[in-house]
Amino acid sequence: MLAVLGATPLSLPIFRKSSLVTYVVQAPCVNCKYGDCVDVCPVECFYEGDTMLYINPDECIDCSACQPVCPVQAIVPGDQAEKEWIQKNKDFAYSEDRRRSSRHDVTHGPDWDEDLAG
Ligand code: SF4
Ligand code: SF4
Repeated sequence: MLAVLGATPLSLPIFRKSSLVTYVVQAPCVNCKYGDCVDVCPVECFYEGDTMLYINPDECIDCSACQPVCPVQAIVPGDQAEKEWIQKNKDFAYSEDRRRSSRHDVTHGPDWDEDLAG
């Protein structure tokens, strides 16, 4: 006789994060690019542009680790971000050669300030 062993993993609900609440990099990052955020991101979803860093909304897991370490408060949750910056983070041309996993790989901008750097 077959026993019923209970729910299988296939019967568990699947949770997906909302793309609306992904963290967003805004204007204060422009021209400094400290990179403190890069060091704490567990999924390496920061990418470097010419003037700022961007968070790839398809990779960010909304862990919030980056927000408190940004010296200029450039990172905000998506539901508090300005539309313009949500769009900029969405539209950046993400490519592997732009992915950053350490602040030491980031080229600081002209407004980089040694006193603020972590
Ligand atoms: S920590 Fe630095 S690189 Fe990251 S968002 Fe803030 S200013 Fe930009
Ligand atoms: S919220 Fe977490 S996963 Fe998203 S960019 Fe910040 S550190 Fe990375």
